[in-house]
Amino acid sequence: MKKVLIIGGGIIGQFSAYYLAKSGHQVTIVDDGPEMTPASEGNCGLVTPSHIIPLNSFSAIFQGIKWLGKKDAPLKIKPQLNRRFILWFINFMRYAQSGHVNKAIQARHEILQQSFKLYEAFFQEEPNSSEWKKDGLLYVAKSEKSLPSFDHEIELHKQFNMESKALNKDEVLALEPNLKEDIAGGVIMEMDGWLNPSQLLKDIRSANESNGVNYVKGRVVSFNKSNSGLVSVKTEEAEIEADEFVLAAGAVSPLLAKKLNIELPVIPGKGYNITTRNGQASPLNLPVYMIERKVVATPWNNGFRIGSTMEFAGYNLDLNQSRLDALKRAASEYLKIDIDEFEMEPWAGWRPMKDNGIPIIEKSKVKNLTIATGHSMVGLSMAPATGYIVNELISSSN
Ligand SMILES: Cc1cc2nc3c(=O)[nH]c(=O)nc-3n(C[C@H](O)[C@H](O)[C@H](O)COP(=O)(O)OP(=O)(O)OC[C@H]3O[C@@H](n4cnc5c(N)ncnc54)[C@H](O)[C@@H]3O)c2cc1C
Repeated sequence: MKKVLIIGGGIIGQFSAYYLAKSGHQVTIVDDGPEMTPASEGNCGLVTPSHIIPLNSFSAIFQGIKWLGKKDAPLKIKPQLNRRFILWFINFMRYAQSGHVNKAIQARHEILQQSFKLYEAFFQEEPNSSEWKKDGLLYVAKSEKSLPSFDHEIELHKQFNMESKALNKDEVLALEPNLKEDIAGGVIMEMDGWLNPSQLLKDIRSANESNGVNYVKGRVVSFNKSNSGLVSVKTEEAEIEADEFVLAAGAVSPLLAKKLNIELPVIPGKGYNITTRNGQASPLNLPVYMIERKVVATPWNNGFRIGSTMEFAGYNLDLNQSRLDALKRAASEYLKIDIDEFEMEPWAGWRPMKDNGIPIIEKSKVKNLTIATGHSMVGLSMAPATGYIVNELISSSN
């Protein structure tokens, strides 16, 4: 049994705690929330084994360049004179070559598959109200031109024994009658599921607390290191000792790792959402991805969320009104609703974007420090497998 301290109580830290505590370790999570809710709470709730292709692609980069200066573009890159940002972009482009992309696809597939199975087990074992559903993710196109770009993805899914299929307009409307009728067709990712991320964080915390996990509120500001590894971390109020440490602070992880001379190829990718305030019925049966707008709407029992766009603008959480308006506009274009009738809360948060689309889940050069971050746009989907691997790394180390 080891004393393990996890820095960060987002979904990655929480699932790491879950498997570590079940293996008999004495686990503490230190987190500085909740003044800024983490990505793990503000995400779109999609659990997507289908998302095997990383963002790295020359077309994504060219699209980003074309959109430079367009205030409400789905992808916005604010050029920055920052060493980590520049290196990250150079590597991001290097990893867009097909050999690297194929390696990322294989790695992502394995983590996503394993995670989906672990989610199923988690929801069977733990009493929960996370609204776990497995009816798939529906992609909807307004224009015929948008659909052929999915042929490659559907083919790839087949190679990995996953079901996704192209649908004509009537098939799309039969699945989701709350869409406007001027659509061209779509694709259903039958292997995907969704849940309510805020509720999941509560459920896993309560499972962790029953398994003896201790939660401490505090911002980690420095580390105390000896020749044999880390001894303790310091928050503004306390010093916490442990045998093993896990860095799972999401997009902030590189700033903390830097204090230990560890460079992590991770930068913040800001996403936005708007969510109904509690108690409003959802106008959707299943999550809908609006292809041309790159916006997704996720339904829950007591409301729905519309997200999310991608902005590379450093560590900045300002709410940009044109981007929030773009989310509302997308919903009005695709859904049979008057979005202005809903009372909606705006939010922004950082995804921990990794340069090659493969998360970092490994022991670092500091012997007793494990790093678990860089899950980019699929951290919720990859969280259980990440926690499982973190536990294996720590349980098998001397
Ligand atoms: C708008 C949006 C939509 C998304 N939609 C999806 C989706 O549908 N499906 C999916 O799979 N993924 C989605 N993602 C991605 C996913 O949310 C992230 O990859 C994932 O939440 C990352 O989890 P994390 O635990 O690494 O980081 P975080 O959730 O950011 O948690 C990190 C934690 O560390 C704490 N912390 C930071 N610094 C310190 C410090 N110094 N001391 C102590 N604690 C600290 C923070 O308070 C935070 O609680 C989305 C992300 C966004 C932004």
